[in-house]
Amino acid sequence: MRDIVRKLYETANLTDAELKALILTDDADAAQLLREYADEVRQRWYGRKVFLRGLIEVSSYCKNDCLYCGIRRSNKDADRYRLDMEKIFQCAENGYELGFRTFVMQGGEDGFYTDDFMCDVISGLREKYPDCAITLSLGERSEESYRRMKEAGADRYLLRHEAASEELYSKLHPSELSLENRKQCLFTLKKLGYQVGSGFMVGAPFQTADHLVEDLRFLQELHPHMIGIGPFVPHHATPFAKENGGTLQLTLRLLGILRLMFPKVLLPATTALGTIAPNGRELGLQTGCNVVMPNLSPVNVRKKYDLYDNKICTGEEAAECRGCLQRRIESAGYEVAQERGDCIETNTQET
Ligand code: SAH
Repeated sequence: MRDIVRKLYETANLTDAELKALILTDDADAAQLLREYADEVRQRWYGRKVFLRGLIEVSSYCKNDCLYCGIRRSNKDADRYRLDMEKIFQCAENGYELGFRTFVMQGGEDGFYTDDFMCDVISGLREKYPDCAITLSLGERSEESYRRMKEAGADRYLLRHEAASEELYSKLHPSELSLENRKQCLFTLKKLGYQVGSGFMVGAPFQTADHLVEDLRFLQELHPHMIGIGPFVPHHATPFAKENGGTLQLTLRLLGILRLMFPKVLLPATTALGTIAPNGRELGLQTGCNVVMPNLSPVNVRKKYDLYDNKICTGEEAAECRGCLQRRIESAGYEVAQERGDCIETNTQET
């Protein structure tokens, strides 16, 4: 197993069989070596820097019905909210003062956020914060919509592919959603010049090691600037309420694999990882991660952006997120970067 890890470190690739073996192994030695190599490669390209993204959760309304997600439309118990333009600007202002230089506007697919509305928000932010990156994570939209928002000043778009296998994708999503369209959106976003983030959940119901190999192969084809992965965490009011969640060990193993396969990629230590283990994000940082996305949403709506159970940083202490994260990052041996934190690879097709 150590030879496989070394080969991944040296060549940034493995055969399907080797990847599968590495995903399935419980060899602690191999996990340790993977962590060391992942940290070395991360430090080679990004030093000890950790980039912060201020996450503004704009809406918990969603027209979709993804089986794993707590804000799916058929969850009648969900407490819905949406932020208007003024609230979004307040969040950004607060974030800017706290030192954030990237704002991520994420939400359910909510028809309230028309292209006209979003373009006004984006151009307003662009004008007020010329030194900041504007990131969107609003799900699947038309090419025209993505183009207009790019022209208004958006820089990046996060859209996880969720599952690259048709068979698995269709078990996690209702039939009106298609993997083909999801992938098409990602290629369109890239073509339009967005820095693109994709990714998947680890340990989703029905997911096998073969499915994960397919996810890694799809990512090699897309070659995104950022890869967001986190454990699946069950939500009590979804069809997957009784399913097992993804594990810390498997998530860390995949993070290490991703860092070695995509040396220059931006790799967040996600909130879901911090939810399943108190030091989950710190362990992520030590296994190749170089991004953290603290919550900038107004404290009174944080519990309502309820994707999965026990989500961290949603209580009254939420206003302290920035300081708390800085301490966590430093305790893990890294430092908070002050800049926008773009991917150091500008043309991701060339490597
Ligand atoms: N509507 C946007 C944002 C979705 S929420 C979009 O479609 O991209 C952001 C991410 O949360 C999703 O991409 C999904 O991977 C993750 N997520 C949703 N439910 C989850 C759960 N139960 N456990 C872990 N992650 C979840």
